Amino acid sequence: MKKIKHLKCSKCGAILTEEVMYHCPHCGTEGTLDIIYDMDLVNKELTREYLRNNKNPNVYRYLPILPLEGLSGAAPLQIGMTPIYKSARLEELLNIKNVYVKDEGRNPTASFKDRATAIGIAKAKELNKDIICAASTGNAASSLSGFAACMGIENYIFVPQSIPEGKLAQLLVFGSKVILVDGDYDTAFDFCLKAVEHYGWYNRSCAINPYLVEGKKTAAFEICEQLDFKVPDKVVMSVGDGCSIAGVWKGFREFYELGLIDKLPVMVSVQAEGSNPVNRTYRKNIREFDYVTPETIADSISVGIPRNGYKALNALAESNGIAVDVSDDEILNAMRVLARHTGVFGEPAGVTAFAGLMKLANEGAIGKDESVAFIVSGSGLKDVKSAQKAVKRPEKIKPDMDVLVKYLEENK
Ligand SMILES: *Cc1c(COP(=O)(O)O)cnc(C)c1O
Ligand SMILES: [Zn+2]
Repeated sequence: MKKIKHLKCSKCGAILTEEVMYHCPHCGTEGTLDIIYDMDLVNKELTREYLRNNKNPNVYRYLPILPLEGLSGAAPLQIGMTPIYKSARLEELLNIKNVYVKDEGRNPTASFKDRATAIGIAKAKELNKDIICAASTGNAASSLSGFAACMGIENYIFVPQSIPEGKLAQLLVFGSKVILVDGDYDTAFDFCLKAVEHYGWYNRSCAINPYLVEGKKTAAFEICEQLDFKVPDKVVMSVGDGCSIAGVWKGFREFYELGLIDKLPVMVSVQAEGSNPVNRTYRKNIREFDYVTPETIADSISVGIPRNGYKALNALAESNGIAVDVSDDEILNAMRVLARHTGVFGEPAGVTAFAGLMKLANEGAIGKDESVAFIVSGSGLKDVKSAQKAVKRPEKIKPDMDVLVKYLEENK
């Protein structure tokens, strides 16, 4: 494709052509690829004026810098252009001048993953691939599942046995072929790779298919547009495999290269203490991931090996990034605090970024005059069981006024 110059390996830096479907031949699956555009060509079309006049209210509005020929395979869903809220209540709580919440739970299947699927599914159509598959902790699965359903595409989904019921229900209602793997996410991921090799299905995994991350970068484009091209000082994100933070960083970098913004944010990677391979490795300043069995309530970011670890490390290194770890208790607390200050209800991984932001703010690591944006990456309704751990269930009472008066006295 003319607007794409080449693909670049995130691990060894090798320059490759689009003939390579998935990963770097030298590095294997660890060598995930970045799509590099011909910016002079993109610049001819993608200007502030182009954006101002663009009436397409979804991720496909950025077509000049998406890896698609056209929009013939675009999913007929409202993807992206999610709201960003400036929260006075959080600004007061955190003592930071500008705090922005981007609510990705407002996507069609209620998570950030829909941005990637939007590109993946259109790409599959372009390449005439009629069967798609994915391995997922849950949200990539339900996303692929919903998109495939609305476009009538056959799909196979590999999920770990620990998948929350809400996400599993989505898959089954959308009608995917679900392979519930006896093992964790890492096992499901590797098993899916084997199946792809055997059957030749198109792989929707962001950490394998380089086109997928291109969808995630649209969140950065939107933040720029929604904040009138005033880029926040820090952008805080929950990190599992690393695709999301890498994608969003790539988005900011590309807008910067196009001259649409005049500065870049510091990327903040927030991980759960019991599943922090990206942060651990970044802090040690090494480029090798050691496996530790993940343990966290935040299932969407529960990974032993980060499958897009090098892209995430690059994003942190290039943006002078910050790595923060949070405990499960801090995640559950963040769920309550966020909901009670903004009306946004996130799943555990969805509020992990906010848990990290609260921690940084409490440590005084963020200046009073700074502007900070964080992404709520998935809706709380996907995993009600975890949410119930953050709150206390009320006792049952008789529908009697005296009982109510007494009850309210006792539960002030
Ligand atoms: C997938 C996911 C993440 C993390 O994204 P990675 O690309 O794996 O780092 C965070 N939050 C939610 C809700 C997710 O589904
Ligand atoms: Zn390589």
